[in-house]
Amino acid sequence: MQSALHGMIEKAHRYAQEPDRLRFESLTTRVRGDNSEHTVRLAQGRLSCDCNHWVHEGLCAHVLTVERVFRQHLPAHAVPYPGAEPVS
Ligand SMILES: [Zn+2]
Repeated sequence: MQSALHGMIEKAHRYAQEPDRLRFESLTTRVRGDNSEHTVRLAQGRLSCDCNHWVHEGLCAHVLTVERVFRQHLPAHAVPYPGAEPVS
């Protein structure tokens, strides 16, 4: 029992050294902006936000912040940059 636990901890330590092993499938994050807090969500491979910028422009600082911090754990094309080719 003790050696099994030791093995798990050792493996977790090794996995944690290789962050590309982790990819978020869903995520809900509160982003504290200068003026107010907003919720950024990852669903179906895309990030989205509840702020007005997102609603009207399809992009905002909150989504870009989450992308910047968690980039290596997010699916490719999680942020639909304006002018980017639609992902099929
Ligand atoms: Zn936003």
